[in-house]
Amino acid sequence: MTDRYAVIGNPIEQSKSPFIHMAFAQVTGQDIDYGKVLGPLGGFAQAVDAFRAAGGRGMNVTAPFKLDAFAYATDLAPSAQMAGAVNAMKFEGERVYAENFDGVGLVRDVVHNLACPLKGKRVLVLGAGGATRGALLPFLAEQPAELVVVNRTVAKAQELAQLAHKHQTGQVPVQGLGYEQLQGKQFDVVFNATSASLTAELPPLPASVFAPGALAYELAYGKGLTPFLKLAQQAGVTHLADGVGMLAEQAAEAFVWWRGVRPDTTSVIQQLTVPLV
Ligand code: NDP
Repeated sequence: MTDRYAVIGNPIEQSKSPFIHMAFAQVTGQDIDYGKVLGPLGGFAQAVDAFRAAGGRGMNVTAPFKLDAFAYATDLAPSAQMAGAVNAMKFEGERVYAENFDGVGLVRDVVHNLACPLKGKRVLVLGAGGATRGALLPFLAEQPAELVVVNRTVAKAQELAQLAHKHQTGQVPVQGLGYEQLQGKQFDVVFNATSASLTAELPPLPASVFAPGALAYELAYGKGLTPFLKLAQQAGVTHLADGVGMLAEQAAEAFVWWRGVRPDTTSVIQQLTVPLV
């Protein structure tokens, strides 16, 4: 029997998840159907209840429902607890298992697909929202030389730095700073995890932060050369990437979790890539 999965969000037309998961199903020979559910605002639980009652096995969760899914779950994985948000659910009887694969997907894209190990690197993350929060533990697990979170609202960056200190077992120095405190500092990997690119804005980042040979990684995807990537390019950075690989890798993590088989992401990434020009 065909197993049913779906992504729930509002809006949902833009979601690439059905394309990605159906492509994974094809290459791995899994018999699944993966659709889109437009969740009514304020009606997340009812929409998920209905999907489960119709036999649904699992769901991805996108904006604005990641916190609703956190509240709905019965069993939160450490990744979801740390992120304070859920992006994948698995239904087994009365149980709702919940994960957040965004952070692990991001790190897998950087380390595996882009062949850029984070171990021993100076890592800077712009933004202190949900994406950064979810990536903290996966970043620390790679043992960078240091991890700096910078945010417009400095208190949120400091809060994440404290959270990271509380949870890490290693000795990675973590700091939460404001943008003006970046003067004179350089980093080997710079992630733009702000939502500024969604409105073609640029965080107040000094171009001097990029160390020679740095990777500039924009978490947003499908936007070409964003203001952040343009700044990096003008500063001489040649290794530029956007979040298409992160998108594919978080989907692959959910697919493995649901189906027990890891799909190759290369073809999906190629098909969804928008050139960085
Ligand atoms: P949140 O809304 O949780 O956080 C947004 C962050 O951006 C906040 O820290 C906010 O700062 C900061 N910000 C917004 N506008 C500006 C600006 N003009 N200048 C400086 N800082 C700004 O967003 P998420 O963490 O959920 O998402 C962040 C990015 O990651 C988005 O681009 C999103 O598309 C992308 N993403 C990509 C995924 C993928 O699969 N590729 C998956 C998940 C996210 P403040 O706190 O001061 O308001």
